[in-house]
Amino acid sequence: SLSDRLTATFKNLRGKGRLSESDVNATIRDIRMALLDADVALPVVKEFTHAVRERALGAEVSGALNPAQQVVKIVNDELVAILGGQTRRIQFAKNPPTVIMLAGLQGSGKTTFAGKLAKWLKDQGHTPMLVAADLQRPNAVTQLQVVGERAGVPVFAPERGNVAGYDAAVESGEGTRSYGDPVTVSRQGIDEARARQHDVVIVDTAGRLAIDEALMQQAADIRAAISPDEVLFVIDAMIGQAAVETAQAFAEGVDFTGVVLGKLDGDARGGAALSVAKVTGRPIMFASVGEQTKDIEVFHPDRMASRILDMGDVLTLIEQAEKAFDQRQAQEMTRKFLEEEDFTFDDFLQQMSAIKKMGSLKQMLGMMPGMGQMRAQLDSLDEREFDRVEAMVRSMTPFERTHPKQINGSRRARIARGSGVSVSEVNQLLERFTQAQKMMRSLRRGGGVPGMPGMPG
Ligand code: GDP
Ligand code: MG
Repeated sequence: SLSDRLTATFKNLRGKGRLSESDVNATIRDIRMALLDADVALPVVKEFTHAVRERALGAEVSGALNPAQQVVKIVNDELVAILGGQTRRIQFAKNPPTVIMLAGLQGSGKTTFAGKLAKWLKDQGHTPMLVAADLQRPNAVTQLQVVGERAGVPVFAPERGNVAGYDAAVESGEGTRSYGDPVTVSRQGIDEARARQHDVVIVDTAGRLAIDEALMQQAADIRAAISPDEVLFVIDAMIGQAAVETAQAFAEGVDFTGVVLGKLDGDARGGAALSVAKVTGRPIMFASVGEQTKDIEVFHPDRMASRILDMGDVLTLIEQAEKAFDQRQAQEMTRKFLEEEDFTFDDFLQQMSAIKKMGSLKQMLGMMPGMGQMRAQLDSLDEREFDRVEAMVRSMTPFERTHPKQINGSRRARIARGSGVSVSEVNQLLERFTQAQKMMRSLRRGGGVPGMPGMPG
């Protein structure tokens, strides 16, 4: 997986100066593979990685991240930006009802989504109504009625008796001709909603299995007739590489204001999201994640980005490392290092709190790719040890923290009492600290960069 590959890359890189071409290329190669694995359309992958490479090359190396992490961050930022940055919410009409029209291929999940959206809006205090404007298949109206009943939302449908041949068609199972005029039904539905003071109308429309001129025209006609506030294009996330072509056809044929990414509960890694967003420039607003009415989610670009990259929580880790990183601290460390000053317990405390800001140590290690197999060792790691160490350091006077060698027997006993540990634990800490100082000195002679001195081991 990408996580494993990146772990290897992370290990091989050291951050210095600017991101080098080879650092960037190695990571971009992995990212390209990950995007293709996630079924992002090839032209989109090419354009995307090209843009990322340009941005990454020559970017200044951040103090908080190593080059591979930094490239991943650039990739992620770029992905999130293309996927829409912030979540886009439904724009409600100033004069209700707000009209939301659904469009998309047959089987993409429009009718199911109509019910989900209706319930979702109802739960937020809206009073939606559904309109059955898919008159292409005889059972489409019945399906929406079932969906509406489940959502507890009324459905406007052409009356069976008023639609020539409707009942006969239902009985015979025939289903390709149109039984009634979807434009008229849509208009009537909206009028009805207005009269009954529903504040939102969701219009379900017909689709074919493949892109089809006549049906695209029908959707365009409905759109022109009802001027919806939102046209949501529903696309099956499993469609993979075909997403680009389908989205383009609907963007040109009907045009839409937002995208619903359907069937995200399946194996689809969501590459279709990137393809659609990139090709149409329209925001993805909702994700459909199952067949039940409740299986609807507001789309989160950042979550989708990490799903596409399949990086586990690498991104969370990067984010937290950045947050915890304090430029001033690092500079101070470097200065001491270069000026051959010894590290003190004050430095040690600062580093402890930096680690703490990143969350619990166990949690942090658990998020690292590849650490899953080391679960047993992680479990035996005693976090309380860190708390005890911190308590001991906090029981030291400022003088003691900067002059650990001066901490004699009576001082040790006082520190032990103050922090509620045994004197031998204080002795151990001081011993380890002296070792760490020695290590730092030898590192300095070797010209290395300071890492985490004084960590209890
Ligand atoms: P439409 O032709 O666009 O109206 O699509 P439907 O709403 O009739 O859905 C087609 C099929 O996909 C049905 O069997 C639905 O149960 C199923 N479906 C719809 N949305 C989802 C989803 O989010 N996840 C899964 N697994 N199946 C879905
Ligand atoms: Mg349908």
